[in-house]
Amino acid sequence: MSPLEKPREGTQSASRRLIRPGLLPTIFCTGCGGGTVLNCFCRAVDELALDPRRMVMVTGIGCSSWIPSPYFLADTLHTTHGRAIAFASGVRVMQPAMKVVVIAGDGDLSGIGGNHLIHAARRNIDLTVIMVNNAIYGMTGGQVAPTTPEDVPTTTTPHGNVEPPFDVASLVAAAGGTFVARWTTYHVFDLVKAFKAALAHKGFSFVEVVSQCTTSYGKAVGMRRAAEFLADYKARSLRLSKAATLSAEELEGKITVGTLRNVAKPEFRERLHAQVARVSDPGSARQGPEPIPPGAVNPPGPPAGVARGLGGENVALRFAGFGGQGVVKAGEILGLAACAEGRRALQNQSYGSSARGGLCTADVTLGPDEIFEIEPDAFDVLVLLSQDSCGAFLHQLRAGGVLIYDRDLVKLPEGNGLRAHGIPATKIAAEELGRKVVTNMVVLGFCAAITEVLPRAALERAIVANVPKGTEELNLRAFAAGFAHAAS
Ligand code: SF4
Repeated sequence: MSPLEKPREGTQSASRRLIRPGLLPTIFCTGCGGGTVLNCFCRAVDELALDPRRMVMVTGIGCSSWIPSPYFLADTLHTTHGRAIAFASGVRVMQPAMKVVVIAGDGDLSGIGGNHLIHAARRNIDLTVIMVNNAIYGMTGGQVAPTTPEDVPTTTTPHGNVEPPFDVASLVAAAGGTFVARWTTYHVFDLVKAFKAALAHKGFSFVEVVSQCTTSYGKAVGMRRAAEFLADYKARSLRLSKAATLSAEELEGKITVGTLRNVAKPEFRERLHAQVARVSDPGSARQGPEPIPPGAVNPPGPPAGVARGLGGENVALRFAGFGGQGVVKAGEILGLAACAEGRRALQNQSYGSSARGGLCTADVTLGPDEIFEIEPDAFDVLVLLSQDSCGAFLHQLRAGGVLIYDRDLVKLPEGNGLRAHGIPATKIAAEELGRKVVTNMVVLGFCAAITEVLPRAALERAIVANVPKGTEELNLRAFAAGFAHAAS
């Protein structure tokens, strides 16, 4: 077991939990770098507590396209050769709630798919692209690729490649990619960090992984064991800071590793939505679902998106805290109450990998209109029950939206200018009701009173129908305490 596979106490390793059951060992050739990339990717997803059910993996054709499909446990589009980014761009625009990731090879992405790659980078569309660069077309028998070094013999260049290879990471950075990094399969810990940074980045992120093909490329260069490749990568790799001090001659044959570019720029989808809003309603001040940065001052006027659950528009709410606070139950009750009232409702939830104690969210969109998705970056009401959730989600409150928070557990940024309503919810639950476990109902009552998103009676009926038998009265009292606090 590699250090990356060391399981936490009482848990399965990230790889075991995020790989479809029954598929290990992989079908990669012995010593192939594909397994290392898969392992590092699973670790990054695990450490970011991303929910694979909210991820869409997109891939093309080639050995590295097996990494997401069939192995990684998320929905996957296994597309045609070179077209992964085109498919992924479509998914990203139409499914904004999903994290979209492309994993494909150097031939696929920089050969036939090269045009898609540079234009997606130029657009700064919010995709994460991982290019596994083994410098050859491995699966199809070892043909020359746009990344094959000069003079290397391949099945289509038996006397040696006469073309210079692409430096794909530099190409993507020059084309406009806003996060670009390159590492090798020797640098597993740096690779996990780069994958995490890329997945967390807003905009086009690209990680090139120089990876060994022990079969086709190994045959071409006379190296058949992974250890030989890793020793070679170690010997030839240079950090970017060191590389910057060397001449072109000194850099010959070296692999420069590190983060080539990491900048914040407007993302394609946001710009597109802003334009659609402007064109379809020129008088509207709304510029699309642009999230407000922490510290920004919300405009005055009535809170957007609240007191409309029975009115003309849909309302999006997020409850966030840590596992064990009853965040999901609060979301469920809100959603079920909406349905019982004849409203449309969509409820979703997410737990961190550590479940109890980890970051946890429950999202509910409700209202009169058909609901196709929950937009993660544009909540009308945000309920925060932990400091971690504040750091993670505060920016997702729509301008003019309502913030509700447990004022003993959450410290808001100074001078935030937000329309914020604090309640000592945990304290009320523990001291007035004698049970911290009903904090969620205190908060739900407070939220219901502040936002008027649904009638009180509807929520009380949903509580009675959905809490454990014998706790109805306690939960109703907690709800009433939160409701009353809003008026105090
Ligand atoms: S052919 Fe090369 S890239 Fe493909 S699985 Fe085998 S070693 Fe890996």
